Amino acid sequence: MSLRCAAVVLAGGSGSRMGGNTPKQYLLLDGKPLIWYSLHAFEESPVEEVVLVVRPGETELCRRNLVEPFGFRKIRTVVEGGKERFHSVFAGLQALKGRGYDLVAIHDGARPMVSQEVIARTFQAAEEYGACVAAVPVKDTIKRADDDGFAAETLPRNLLWSVQTPQTFRFDLCLQAYETMMARPEFQVGITDDAMVVEQFTDTRVRLVMGDYKNLKVTTPEDLPAAERYLEQSGISAFREEPDGIFQRSSL
Ligand code: C5P
Repeated sequence: MSLRCAAVVLAGGSGSRMGGNTPKQYLLLDGKPLIWYSLHAFEESPVEEVVLVVRPGETELCRRNLVEPFGFRKIRTVVEGGKERFHSVFAGLQALKGRGYDLVAIHDGARPMVSQEVIARTFQAAEEYGACVAAVPVKDTIKRADDDGFAAETLPRNLLWSVQTPQTFRFDLCLQAYETMMARPEFQVGITDDAMVVEQFTDTRVRLVMGDYKNLKVTTPEDLPAAERYLEQSGISAFREEPDGIFQRSSL
């Protein structure tokens, strides 16, 4: 690809739905912290640079215990995220500002199974359409609830997609949309993904690109066995040796 591509990988959340003391991005899966898998995927991808967004106060820790020992060459910057996911994304975009990138992929570090195929598909679609998200058709019937917890409406399943990451955009478009949103607190209500920001604050339509059912977000403890099984099948974890005891639960 002739365009210059970068990625923002998010690990700035508290992961409270996982329970336990260790933030989910640092839980060890087959000897490596969960976040390693997304970073590895982008290290192997065509992106020139990765910005890693971590929790406030953890930049040095992550540089020392993750970026350096595992040898991630594309992570030039580790920045602090913010209270909401969109604050963290904005911090990542700010770090890339002025570096001449054409496209940026934004990825939840909590999705360790992202494949090269899905990453490539989103970059192709972002080049063609300016904005896209990886997504999969929903398998379940989806109902909208009323305020009392009763089914108010059954939504047409053939039109519904479950949205994943990467969410990939022309860099300037994405930054402009985020800057517009960040300027006004009332614009920030209910923002749950990046596509929403582009949908609401630009005229560009967001293309849905086929993701992968395996590209699940590790959110609650039930997700861990599935993640481990997929990673085992993919053979990814055989790539590198874990540096001895460097990223133990007790270090965070
Ligand atoms: O909380 P949720 O599972 O939706 O988070 C999705 C991704 O966004 C995770 O990788 C998480 O670390 C990241 N995040 C972040 N900053 C926040 C909240 C979430 O980087 N304030």
